[in-house]
Amino acid sequence: MPRVKRQPESNSGQQVGLVCRGCGCQHFRVVYVKHRPGGIVLRRRECRHCGRRVMTREVQV
Ligand SMILES: [Zn+2]
Repeated sequence: MPRVKRQPESNSGQQVGLVCRGCGCQHFRVVYVKHRPGGIVLRRRECRHCGRRVMTREVQV
């Protein structure tokens, strides 16, 4: 039986090292982006499969 290989989508510019804890997939869509003073970017992502939401915080130096 051949295994199904999952390939990360890396063509959209939003590279994510993020894995959904609900279903284990890596397919998120960004719900909104917030810019905070100090170069902090908050991104709210939602899993396309199970709808679980994840908040990520990035600091741009
Ligand atoms: Zn999920």
